[in-house]
Amino acid sequence: MSSNAACPACLSADVHSILSVSVAQAAQSIILPKSDPARSDRLTRHIASLWGGDRCEILKCRECGFGFAWPFVAGDAEFYNVANADVVYPRMKWEYRRTLEALRSLPTRDMTALEVGAGNGYFLDLVSPDPIRPENIHAVEYNSKSIASLERRGYRTTAADIRDPCFDDRRNAFDVVFMFQVVEHMDKVGELFERLHYLLKPNGSAFIAVPNPRRIEYQEAHGSVLDMPPNHIGRWTPGAFAALSSRTGLRLAESEVEPLDWAEFLEHDISYSHIRRTQLHPDGVSARIRSLPRSRFRRLGEAAIATMFIPSRLGSWLAAYADRKDMGGSLWVRLERA
Ligand SMILES: [Zn+2]
Repeated sequence: MSSNAACPACLSADVHSILSVSVAQAAQSIILPKSDPARSDRLTRHIASLWGGDRCEILKCRECGFGFAWPFVAGDAEFYNVANADVVYPRMKWEYRRTLEALRSLPTRDMTALEVGAGNGYFLDLVSPDPIRPENIHAVEYNSKSIASLERRGYRTTAADIRDPCFDDRRNAFDVVFMFQVVEHMDKVGELFERLHYLLKPNGSAFIAVPNPRRIEYQEAHGSVLDMPPNHIGRWTPGAFAALSSRTGLRLAESEVEPLDWAEFLEHDISYSHIRRTQLHPDGVSARIRSLPRSRFRRLGEAAIATMFIPSRLGSWLAAYADRKDMGGSLWVRLERA
C-alpha cells in the first residue's frame, strides 16, 4: 500500500509505516459497536468507502518528520455527521493567548482577518472589536448554530472550504489567517498552503495550531488513545510546516510547543487511557459501562473505574515528566507570506 507513497509536505519518498489500522479499529475509536450497532456499521462502511479498502497506514517521513494517513484522505461531511463528534470548544486555549501576543507586534490598523473553523467564535471575541473590527472578519464554519451566532456578532461567514472557487475573489484580502486545530484534519495540503498564499496580503501571517506530535507519540506508546484517521490525518512537525511553506511561497517564521499544563495532561491521560481500555477489551467492565446510554449513572461509573486504574498510569506519568519540555498539548506556528 505504501510502495508509491510520498510525503504530502516535502514530497520525499523516504517514508516508513508506524501503524496500520483497519476500518473496524477506526470506527471503534469513535463508536463502541455494542453501544450502537447500526451507527457503528454505517460508520465502518463509510470509512471503507473513503479509503477504498479495509486498511489505512500511518506513514512517517524521514526528511521532515510529517506523519500522515495513507491513503491521505480527509473525513467528509457524511463521516463527521455519522461520527457525531461532541466537539467541545474551550473559551481560552494556550494557542489563543500565544496568537494574541504575536498580534501585538503587527500593525493592526484596519487589519483584515480570516478564521477557518471558527466554531463558536471564542477566539474571534478575543480579537474583536479591538484590535480587529467585526466587519473586517471573515469566519469559515459549517455548523449552522455557530454560523447564526457568529453573524449576530457582526462577522461575515461562509460555509465552504477556502480552496473552493467562492474564495477566488479574495486574493490578497487578508492580513492574518487563523486555523486552530483544523489543519490536522485536512488533505490536499499543497492546495491548502497555495490558497493561504493566495488569500494573504504580502507579508501577511497565518497562525496555525495543531496537536503536538510528541504528545501523540506519548499517548500511542503509553496505552492511551491512538490519533486515528480519517479524523486526524496529518501529524505536523515544524519541519513539515517549513518544507511545505517553502514550496508554496510561505515561510515558517515562528514555531513553539505549548508549555505542559499538568492539570490538563492528567485529566486527559486518565480519560483517554480509560477510553483505550474500552477499545482493547470490548467485553471488559470499562467497555460495558461505556456502552450504556448516556446518563449520570454512566458518567459516575466511568469516572469511578477510570480512577481505579490511576495506579497503573504512574509509570507513564513518570515518562511524561522526563519529557515534560516537549509534552504540551499543542504546536503553534506562524507562517509568513514572502
Ligand atoms: Zn516530508
